[in-house]
Amino acid sequence: MELNRTLDQVTPSLTLQLVAKVNDLKQQGKDIVGFTVGEPDFPTPQHIKQSGIDAINDNFTRYTAAVGINELKDIIVSKLKTENNLEYTAQNIAVNNGAKHSISNVLMTLINPGDEIIIPAPYWLSYPEMVTLCHGKSVVVPTTKDSGYKITAQQLKEAITPKTKAVIINSPNNPSGAVYSEQELQSLVEVIAESGIWVISDEIYEKLVYDGNKHFSLAQYPQIKSQVIVVNGVSKAYAMTGWRIGYIAAEPEIIKGVAKIQSQFTSSPCSISQKAAATAISGSQDEVEKMRSIFEDRRNLAHDLLNKIPGLSVDKAPGAFYLFPQCEGYNKVTPEGKAINSSLDLADYMLEKHHVVVVPGKAFGCDLNFRISYATSHEQIKKGIERIHNAFAELREG
Ligand code: PMP
Repeated sequence: MELNRTLDQVTPSLTLQLVAKVNDLKQQGKDIVGFTVGEPDFPTPQHIKQSGIDAINDNFTRYTAAVGINELKDIIVSKLKTENNLEYTAQNIAVNNGAKHSISNVLMTLINPGDEIIIPAPYWLSYPEMVTLCHGKSVVVPTTKDSGYKITAQQLKEAITPKTKAVIINSPNNPSGAVYSEQELQSLVEVIAESGIWVISDEIYEKLVYDGNKHFSLAQYPQIKSQVIVVNGVSKAYAMTGWRIGYIAAEPEIIKGVAKIQSQFTSSPCSISQKAAATAISGSQDEVEKMRSIFEDRRNLAHDLLNKIPGLSVDKAPGAFYLFPQCEGYNKVTPEGKAINSSLDLADYMLEKHHVVVVPGKAFGCDLNFRISYATSHEQIKKGIERIHNAFAELREG
């Protein structure tokens, strides 16, 4: 019996394939340094864990309202007001099972078959796959190292067609670590306002910005606020990836669509996690600052070390916990005579010969690059980047 044909167009996660390979090598007793993780390596702060424990002990363990408890929605409304200067009411908020779920709900709410979604590359690898699963068409717009891996107003304008439904802007960005400045966002606003398209603003790395940079949201521009669907969550800021809480702030028509989908597909987000998320967002932010500052130190270390590798150029990216080095080019060979012609070849070679795991840029729509996550210890960063250095030193022109 034939299965859903759309699945034939969906690529299984490259990162998960890498994890399987790494596990194989580890089982063979190999010492592998992994730079692939997309989550903080810290435990969830104690006061947040305690509120999850309290929720269980208080028997707060039943279904809740489909798009979240009022307490959490109200806390999100005041967070958006005080931290982002955004006016919303609880009617503008939906709580979901992680920001990934927020985005898939939004795409399902927006897309009619064939609608186009503009995605600047490098992009988080789930966006195009989710668009395909929703029977939409991804329009990938490549950005360059020179533009800081950010889409320009001109590029956005040129990509818009009568079929465009939305653009996805992710700042701070996974995988490049780029952060759009207020001015850069301002330049996009005019194009967005003129075209009337929706904007999915993925702000999951909001709290992880460095060098005194500040996060700005496209929803802060009054001309387009009603077009912007803000997506955020607790996974990255509060080291809560396993709790699965994300949220959306948008016009009530979007929230109603999301609520319909969520109520039929998943019921509510986890009751216990909602209580923990309420504590995370409304409680002390001291732990967030501690984690942020450790990430900044690690980023400085990783950048300094990567920067010394001939053949690589790497921006000191001001956000998230990723660096995205660019290779000068391929057409190289390993000492064993294996050709290196793509980021996949390169990542394979670094894993098999040098036992260091990076994510090939091809997964993010940029084949010249690879991604390293510095959500790991100083020791691992030093050891792993030394291996990358050795790997590059051994390559010869092909
Ligand atoms: N957006 C981006 C850019 C991400 O990197 C991630 C996690 N890797 C998510 C959304 C989803 O986060 P979660 O579902 O854990 O909230």
